[in-house]
Amino acid sequence: MPREIDEVKREVAVANRILAETGLAAHILASLGHASMRVPNQPGLFVVKGRGYPTDALRVARPEEMIVVDLDGGYVDGPRGTSQCYEVKMHSCIYRERPDVQSIVHTHPRYTNVLGLNDVKLKPMSNEGHQLVRGDIPVFPHSKLIITEEDGMQVAEAIGDGPALLLRGHGAVTTGRNLEQSVMHMLHLEEQARLNWVAYAAFGPDYKGIPAENMDEFAAGYAAMGKAPHLAGPFASMPPVTVGGVWKYYTELVSADM
Ligand SMILES: [Zn+2]
Repeated sequence: MPREIDEVKREVAVANRILAETGLAAHILASLGHASMRVPNQPGLFVVKGRGYPTDALRVARPEEMIVVDLDGGYVDGPRGTSQCYEVKMHSCIYRERPDVQSIVHTHPRYTNVLGLNDVKLKPMSNEGHQLVRGDIPVFPHSKLIITEEDGMQVAEAIGDGPALLLRGHGAVTTGRNLEQSVMHMLHLEEQARLNWVAYAAFGPDYKGIPAENMDEFAAGYAAMGKAPHLAGPFASMPPVTVGGVWKYYTELVSADM
């Protein structure tokens, strides 16, 4: 395998560890869920966490344990005695149908799960991920594991060209243009769901979400930030931000013992 695959495997292991470190795959969920990334110079392949490891938990995912898979979900390369993740078809079918998608995450986040199962439409509750829940997030109306090609294609059809899909009683799937975005989408989804839960518990079903005009106002203000007289000077001498602070922080944290 070319050198690039090793770099992709490392990034995928880091992403899986971040899902654990941030609580999306921790405690009773420690071995559940998987992050994957398409191989940039071989778009017909992707790398995903597999099964069959001595210790199968996302927090201890190792680069050399990651599995290379083709767009039919077929096993291409990995350590002896391992398999792809059981639900590899949700990854392979979405990658095949969506050339724009470079990364996919599946986890079983608690608040997203409970509210989705009870048909609570998530309202934007804070700025962190408000756009993700601004419209309706589609729901896949089954809690079964996604094993067959037919299951995978139904998931791909259900998510459509969107960034997120709820699986009834079985967590969620998020997509992204890179690992950072697909993982951040999952984190934002769960954060919004948690705040929805809090508001529902405190105020009942008619609790308020952020109005659309306030989200538009936020976007306009953010876009114009660099033109503010007191910020323009310092901003001009700063390097462009290519990686978010949350992602950088957790990458460094989980890489320390890799
Ligand atoms: Zn699952």
